[in-house]
Amino acid sequence: MSLILCESLVRIYQTGSIEVQALQGLDLAVDAGEMVAVVGASGSGKSTLLSILAGIDAPTAGRAHIDRWDLLAMSRADRVRYRRQTVGFVRQQTASNLVPYLSARQVIDLPMAAAGVPGRARRERTAELLETLGVTDCADRRPAQMSGGQQQRVAIAVALANRPRILLADEPTGELDTATSAEVFGALRHVNREFGVTVVVVTHDPAVSGQVERTVAIRDGRTSSEVLRRTATAANGDTHMIAEEYAVMDRAGRVQIPREYREALDLTRRVRLALEADHITVQAADRAGEENR
Ligand code: ADP
Ligand code: MG
Repeated sequence: MSLILCESLVRIYQTGSIEVQALQGLDLAVDAGEMVAVVGASGSGKSTLLSILAGIDAPTAGRAHIDRWDLLAMSRADRVRYRRQTVGFVRQQTASNLVPYLSARQVIDLPMAAAGVPGRARRERTAELLETLGVTDCADRRPAQMSGGQQQRVAIAVALANRPRILLADEPTGELDTATSAEVFGALRHVNREFGVTVVVVTHDPAVSGQVERTVAIRDGRTSSEVLRRTATAANGDTHMIAEEYAVMDRAGRVQIPREYREALDLTRRVRLALEADHITVQAADRAGEENR
């Protein structure tokens, strides 16, 4: 069963008389232990999706089940519990994840103190997280005394302090250079393997999304395609990565045909579908037939 299951998720923002459909029927299923990258143009709804998964924002319609929670039917108290126990969140702005006057050790301790974890367990968990994220040497430093990459690794430690099942990161490398992005992304992959935490990370960096097994593309508030990567072993023992792109079909059977395909075959409003023994064909509608209608 999926740990995260969103079906036909809709989020409409209303500002005055203007309505923005940030999510327009998004489908997403993520299994426990997976690491998924979410990509898409600016304004496609990535941050809206992550805010909903984080329990910061509520969907307008659709289904969103995460762990044992139904995000469309949560009380305010449930939401607080959900945010404290089930998800950890890392923001893009390195500065907004930390507190200027607190050391790494102190800021990692904060969410555990808020959850009432005893002092000794807190100290042990803090040491473990600093070690796992390779920032033990930053334990007593404040953000201003750390590099951008170290700040984001400490932010990951803060997000993981209360052992959430899900780690969400919204463009965590957006403000970093390429080498530092790779370092932070490496840290996300490491905690995914080390702790088994499920990771959903938004990125616009193709080099970064190329490193995860599964990339989900969002377009206009919908999941439009997924790329799955796996390593294959050739007869001579060499291994190489295979990436395959899939279109995503929603529960009503809708599939988006990429623009390049539509343009190449001049597909417009009507297309002819035909069921073959093991596949379906999509063809331009017969123009003559259209004229005779
Ligand atoms: P992304 O993270 O992919 O760039 P967002 O989820 O931030 O996209 O935004 C999706 C759409 O929703 C955009 O058109 C954006 O302008 C709009 N939007 C996001 N947040 C709000 C808000 N609080 N109020 C009104 N519109 C919003
Ligand atoms: Mg965004």
